[in-house]
Amino acid sequence: MKIEEVVRRALRIVKPTSGEREKLRRVAERALNLAKSTSSRFDGVTGISIEGSAAKDTWIRGRAEADIFIHFDPKIPKEELEKRIVELGSDVIRRLGGAPRLMYADHPYVEGLIDGVTVDIVACYDVEPPNWISATDRTPYHTRYVIENLKKGQEDEVRLLKGFMIGCGVYGAEIKVRGFSGYLTELLVLAYGSFLEVLKAAATWRPPTIIDIKQYYSSPEEVGELFRDSRLIVIDPVDRARNVAAAVSKTRLSEFLLASKIFLKKPSLKFFEKEEKEKVRASDVRKLSRERHFIYLFFKILEEKPPDVLWGELRHSGEGVKRALERLGFKVYRSGSWTDERRYCLLIFEVDRTSLPRYALHRGPPLYLRNAEEFVELWTRRGIGPWIDGDRAYVLRARDETRANKLLKNGIEQNEVAISRGLVDYVKSGKIGDDLEQLIKIAKKNDGLLKFLVGFLEARPSFLRR
Ligand code: ATP
Ligand code: MG
Repeated sequence: MKIEEVVRRALRIVKPTSGEREKLRRVAERALNLAKSTSSRFDGVTGISIEGSAAKDTWIRGRAEADIFIHFDPKIPKEELEKRIVELGSDVIRRLGGAPRLMYADHPYVEGLIDGVTVDIVACYDVEPPNWISATDRTPYHTRYVIENLKKGQEDEVRLLKGFMIGCGVYGAEIKVRGFSGYLTELLVLAYGSFLEVLKAAATWRPPTIIDIKQYYSSPEEVGELFRDSRLIVIDPVDRARNVAAAVSKTRLSEFLLASKIFLKKPSLKFFEKEEKEKVRASDVRKLSRERHFIYLFFKILEEKPPDVLWGELRHSGEGVKRALERLGFKVYRSGSWTDERRYCLLIFEVDRTSLPRYALHRGPPLYLRNAEEFVELWTRRGIGPWIDGDRAYVLRARDETRANKLLKNGIEQNEVAISRGLVDYVKSGKIGDDLEQLIKIAKKNDGLLKFLVGFLEARPSFLRR
């Protein structure tokens, strides 16, 4: 298929239907009205607006979302604002007929699903640039900037770019993904003109890539100096001190570059399709895991946490476990984490082996040294040996425990493994295993987990699948 034809068909995947548009319009209007009437009970509210992709008409099919922003007087202290938005937001979602869910990591907001439309009730301070107080204060300015600068027709270019990024697994600034935010895709389209031009540019990006639409800075050196460790630097048109791409991880950026290169060479609709339609089966996990080794921690959490908090804890704990496994003598090839964001969590590691040899070689001092006899005496009672080879004495020292999962469990019980405080008790009462069969048993009843396992075992981004 020619690239133009692929893009034409992709647009049908990402463009909302008129029915969907109508539904979003209705839900957004109701939410806006309810937010207005509810907020009159709270003082300090200076205004209410709709922001995000619904306001900019850059939302994509199947992802209808109304971001309702409640603007607060900057005199309201932050803790007070957090309290009020949680109360107000929950109230609005309930009155819309939904179940409110607290979603924040650094900034609280409340989410609900109404009629297939996600409604977010978000707080921001009513401030002038650059007097930002909270993370969301720039948003109304972002919305205005995009609406004023995006040319007619470029909304669809943004949709194509979002759809491509979703298909490739790099879309979303939340902790779970650490990818490209909606605003970032809009700025990329503004900078390069169209979806295909963004991809063509990305295929040539070499770090550090600097995109400074408003030309706030006079030299790349100046920008490089300011945003030292960033590979992709997109200067925020409404705030010259901020890199809009700061949350994009190295991995997501690299995946996007690779996807762009491959798509331009061999355009295909599979770049816009995240999951293959076919069902995954437990037998796929068995087949894929043959002659490979895994250690996993599966546990239940017994409280509700916002997804950003949970994913952050999972990543941090995953890194801690990886370091522990390496300390214990295992080579960790790769790691993954999964959660249904409500109850079940999984940390999984592919390793070179799941147990250590019973005996380890232990080298003693050269025998001409003073303490050599001590070594010999000590180990004659304990190990295999000692024997002498060249200058030194050696023994084989037996390990009490050889299995990775047991060693890890002991380490965790002794609090020697850096696991997030918010998870450690759940991990301790969870399962630490090296046999995927037990995990498969659970996954048979949990399609999300099964899908994750197959993806993890395949070990390649979805766009590289055949
Ligand atoms: P999408 O089509 O994916 O919904 P969007 O532009 O609406 O794209 P959202 O993630 O829904 O993006 O966020 C809406 C707006 O709220 C964004 O433009 C962003 O500026 C702001 N926002 C949301 N969450 C945060 C956050 N944690 N920190 C700062 N700003 C945020
Ligand atoms: Mg949105």
